[in-house]
Amino acid sequence: MPRVRKTTRQFEKDKAAFFTKCKASHAVCWLCGMPIDYEATKNTTDDSFNLDHLYPVSKHPELQFDPAGFKPSHTSCNRLRGNQDPPTPIGTLSRQWINTND
Ligand SMILES: [Zn+2]
Repeated sequence: MPRVRKTTRQFEKDKAAFFTKCKASHAVCWLCGMPIDYEATKNTTDDSFNLDHLYPVSKHPELQFDPAGFKPSHTSCNRLRGNQDPPTPIGTLSRQWINTND
């Protein structure tokens, strides 16, 4: 059975729609639970919006384009997270699970 691949264009559309939805609902960062600065340009400041994935793309590339796995995060939190698996249970709003292994 051939794999159905979404186009990059569709991915861009999904990302834009996700951002609009998060901004409209003032969605908080799923990693730390703090408000996101939706006025800042994406990925520019620590508090600006960054599209995170429930499962790290590096480990689950097949899920990269799946909007069901999109999560709103701070640019800084996403950077701290790296490619770690999500915290369990999801909803534990703490940065404690983030280990810095350097
Ligand atoms: Zn955060």
